[in-house]
Amino acid sequence: MVGSLNELKEASSEEIARSRRLLQHPYAYLDEFGGFSALSNCSSKQADTFTAAPKKIIEESRHSHTEIERRVKNLHRRIWQNRNKIWSNVTPSNPIDMLDPVIALKFVGYDCELDETLGIFYSDGKLIEVAGTIAKSSAKVCISRRFENNIRNFTAAHELGHALLHQTGSLHRDRPLNGTIISRDPIEWEADKFATFFLMPRKLVKTTFEKIFLTDKFFLNEETAFALGYGDFMELKGKVKPLRQLSKMLASAEQYNGRHFISLANQFRVSTEAMAIRLEELELLAL
Ligand SMILES: [Zn+2]
Repeated sequence: MVGSLNELKEASSEEIARSRRLLQHPYAYLDEFGGFSALSNCSSKQADTFTAAPKKIIEESRHSHTEIERRVKNLHRRIWQNRNKIWSNVTPSNPIDMLDPVIALKFVGYDCELDETLGIFYSDGKLIEVAGTIAKSSAKVCISRRFENNIRNFTAAHELGHALLHQTGSLHRDRPLNGTIISRDPIEWEADKFATFFLMPRKLVKTTFEKIFLTDKFFLNEETAFALGYGDFMELKGKVKPLRQLSKMLASAEQYNGRHFISLANQFRVSTEAMAIRLEELELLAL
């Protein structure tokens, strides 16, 4: 999704109707960011290019879950192979420290800066503060300082996804993102998936989880409840229904079995909710 409110205003209803007929595709709709996906890369005055541009976006936006994960793995591998060049002074000893979307953006050729504010935009009739922008034409990403670190981190990783998956020719703006809202726009969904895989890679989350909870699948029982610091198993069992409550508890836990550590969410610099969802996706726990 690219496009601004102004571009949207410029787009006549005739063009929108025409794009729907041409595309016969769900992307030809107004998206939640106030832009119009089908009009990406072309203004209302560029009728000649209008038929070609949307098709390109559609092709590029069809990335399967598996394909996105494969692309992220490739990027991780390239970052690892080039770690001595990227971190010329001190190469991180912990692989989690290499999951830095700002460094990755620079590695793939993007200029990335932090700004005090990136303005506001309309979505669903509400004014929303912009958390991140990307302009592929100038290879530039901006992240707003107005949000807490895990939102900045996820938003930067989302922009990294756009940089590697999509043609975002004009300025694309994003709301604050932390990976817990499923986007209705397929392109936004893909960028979110990219961010999730980039920040919380399957293998690294699993091995870190195993180190902390001493198992590759956590089941809640009297013993594990006690290790979490709860003497009353039945009381805890009542508290953690549905599963998301237990997932959040494990994502934010800072002690287990008498050992203290940095929580999974904080180690991976994501929100508790985002890590909780990832733990469930990886089937690392059950009630
Ligand atoms: Zn986006």
